Amino acid sequence: MLQRILDYAHFLLEDSVQQGDVVLDGTAGNGHDTLFLSQLVGENGEVLSFDIQEQAILSTEQKINENNVKNITLIQDSHDKLKNYIPEPSTRLGGAIFNLGYLPGSDKSIVTKPDTTLTAIQNTLDLLKPQGLLVLVVYHGHHGGQEEKEALLKYLSKLEQKEFSVLRYGFVNQANNPPFILAIEKK
Ligand code: SAM
Repeated sequence: MLQRILDYAHFLLEDSVQQGDVVLDGTAGNGHDTLFLSQLVGENGEVLSFDIQEQAILSTEQKINENNVKNITLIQDSHDKLKNYIPEPSTRLGGAIFNLGYLPGSDKSIVTKPDTTLTAIQNTLDLLKPQGLLVLVVYHGHHGGQEEKEALLKYLSKLEQKEFSVLRYGFVNQANNPPFILAIEKK
């Protein structure tokens, strides 16, 4: 059966992330992916979870407390500043996810932007372990979403094939700008 977008994003990470890894959620939002990553890496791993929006940080914090997990570092800053928060220079990421767009049920004018998204992706790819995976869930129906989508496809289609494999997964017959996945594996 064909998997839905968010299920497939998690399936890809389940397959590549190991217990004990340091991993990244570039867009915490309501914390669903952060909590999912927390379970994947286990108590010896760590999740770095970014969001610029206070409401997202509070919502994710609430989920962390409800689930009593101790392996998440929540950071209220833009994901392009990732390198400022890496625990040690030798740290490598076992995997990462970015859910692009706006926070559902919140201020729709706070959206991810092409420049910061591309810088964050570049930094994430630098820090990824070999065989590590960066999964992007691209929502593009909002104001500015089309520009971000185009910038992403332009940048990722030029990544060196010897160093990265880039997959696109999405449904082509759904209405209203359906989201799709871009997954980048470091070789
Ligand atoms: N993954 C989330 C979840 O499981 O609920 C949904 C994320 S939502 C689609 C996108 C989030 O990106 C919003 O919460 C927004 O505040 C955040 N965001 C926008 N620009 C950002 C930036 N430069 N750095 C970090 N987060 C950003």
